[in-house]
Amino acid sequence: MGLVPGLVTGLGVTFKEIVKTVTKGAETVQYPHVKEDPPARARGVIALHEENCTSCMLCARECPDWCIYIEGHKDLAPPRRAGGKPRTVNKLDRFDIDYGLCMYCGICVEVCPFEALFWSPEYEYSEPRIADLLHDKSRLGQWMETVPEFESYEGGSEAKQKKVPRPA
Ligand code: SF4
Ligand code: SF4
Repeated sequence: MGLVPGLVTGLGVTFKEIVKTVTKGAETVQYPHVKEDPPARARGVIALHEENCTSCMLCARECPDWCIYIEGHKDLAPPRRAGGKPRTVNKLDRFDIDYGLCMYCGICVEVCPFEALFWSPEYEYSEPRIADLLHDKSRLGQWMETVPEFESYEGGSEAKQKKVPRPA
């Protein structure tokens, strides 16, 4: 396409969009004065259900941005049956996600074998200091309250319901 026809085509698209905006109104909203309700499955922020996390490190290893930081230690737990040996369990000391680096790919949520990570549609957590975008396990745990109930997902979904005890 030559320069002039290309210019005419481009201006045509611009004109069409201007007419659409004038007649139907803009598609954008004036955030923060107007807030949109994101869809239930929107990737806003990742929530941690700490009780389910075994510190297996799978999410941290698979994260392409290396922005999940996990530290834990091993502890002895009582045997499952009387007379049995004490069990070794992993205890989570640190679980941080740096949202200054995260690219919201969702790999960590997908690979977690123990249903400890969930998407929440909440998006209002911008910070003036980039260092404050590092959310520790307490902050990540608080996001669990904003994870939508499974029922609010769209009808016809074949995804299995995750059995997560809701925080008290
Ligand atoms: S969403 Fe992707 S980039 Fe963000 S923490 Fe999870 S795996 Fe890493
Ligand atoms: S969140 Fe899941 S994948 Fe990550 S350490 Fe915990 S149990 Fe493992």
